[in-house]
Amino acid sequence: MEKELTLNPFKIVQEQIESVGEVLNLPKDVVEVLKWPKRVLSVSIPVKMDNGEIKVFLGFRSQHNDALGPTKGGIRFHPDVNMDEVMALSMWMTLKCGVVGIPYGGGKGGVACDVKNMSQGEIERVSRGYIDAIWQFIGPEKDIPAPDVYTNPQIMAWMMDEYSKLRGFNAFGVITGKPILLGGSLGRNMATAMGTIYTIREGAKVLGINLKEATASIQGYGNAGYFAAKLLYDDGVKIIAVSDSKGGIYSEEGLDPDKVLKYKQETGSVVGYPNTKTIGSKDTLTIPCDILVPAALENQITTENVNEVKAKMIAEAANGPTTPEADKIIAEKGILILPDILANAGGVTVSYFEWVQNNYGYYWSEEEVLQSLERIMVNAFKSVYDMHKEKKIDMRTAAGAVSIKRVVDAMKLRGWI
Ligand code: NAD
Repeated sequence: MEKELTLNPFKIVQEQIESVGEVLNLPKDVVEVLKWPKRVLSVSIPVKMDNGEIKVFLGFRSQHNDALGPTKGGIRFHPDVNMDEVMALSMWMTLKCGVVGIPYGGGKGGVACDVKNMSQGEIERVSRGYIDAIWQFIGPEKDIPAPDVYTNPQIMAWMMDEYSKLRGFNAFGVITGKPILLGGSLGRNMATAMGTIYTIREGAKVLGINLKEATASIQGYGNAGYFAAKLLYDDGVKIIAVSDSKGGIYSEEGLDPDKVLKYKQETGSVVGYPNTKTIGSKDTLTIPCDILVPAALENQITTENVNEVKAKMIAEAANGPTTPEADKIIAEKGILILPDILANAGGVTVSYFEWVQNNYGYYWSEEEVLQSLERIMVNAFKSVYDMHKEKKIDMRTAAGAVSIKRVVDAMKLRGWI
């Protein structure tokens, strides 16, 4: 069995772009252009800590390709943030925006910091310091950040405020994922999972699965995982297993997602929920079910456990839950995979709606947001599924191909290649 080779995300995304280039018969020089971000900025952010000492934080912002529009992508606050990771994530954002056909290229940013050991005041000063360092590089027409790992609506509010002060006017459209009162969009909290559900419904149609008779297992019970469980439950799917970082629970009769959430809020974990069997965090991935939703971390389905995966369909709400080597085995097993750049693109799509609403200063109802999201996700599924059938390629490569084709066509029209 082929073992995991490299897990450097930058190398992985470059290889993915190369395989998409082969499928689309792209010239080698065009593929080379796509394998590198257009611009990357590296900054140092001196911040006065609560104890009076000045600490220097390293930050990055990468803009991969802006042929289709301004670049867009989150800002990550995590001790492991580094330039390779930020570049890779910006390239995945190009692929993600391209799959759903929204007018953006890919961007990403991050600051190497450990928010778990910082006060709110220190986090605010790092957030404002990061914007002071990169503000000329971003903007509503240039590059629009959003939340990512360990950043949230409050941090987006500070960043928007800092950028607005520097520009001298309120620039709500510079950043998305803001609180509703400061130009955030209704529907954003459930957007990622709702997008996943719209693609699962389409996947179920092509596989002939009746959702009312189907079972699902979900790894991760945060924003993406809980809402995925709830929305599938509302569609009549029996949720037989869920897990979080502390472990998992299994029930043959099925779980009520809201009751499980309440239990997790009270006790800190889903583990111990009454009348369930305790299982491991990763066991949710290998339980026999129709629909598997990885909604936790990257690199969870690997060569170690892929042969145990028994689902008919895998909808990747998480980013990068499947390693490239495990991916090949999933394709051989004939499991329908809804790849992350398709299945979790609902988040960036509603971020796009937020930016549109900021630009024209008129705000939509949640119903309008979800209707527009459904249209975009259903069309995206169809484009990817048609490409998968037409070129006889796996769904992940097909999603990449739909996306890269749009980017390359835009580059041609602009006379760049
Ligand atoms: P979150 O922090 O709200 O939740 C993460 C969940 O994963 C928590 O319940 C945590 O306990 C669980 N978890 C952590 N380690 C685990 C393990 N080893 N096994 C099982 N569960 C574990 O995060 P989120 O926003 O739900 O994001 C989850 C995934 O979805 C990430 O990969 C993220 O990049 C992706 N995603 C999220 C959004 C969004 O809008 N929230 C958008 C696109 C992609």
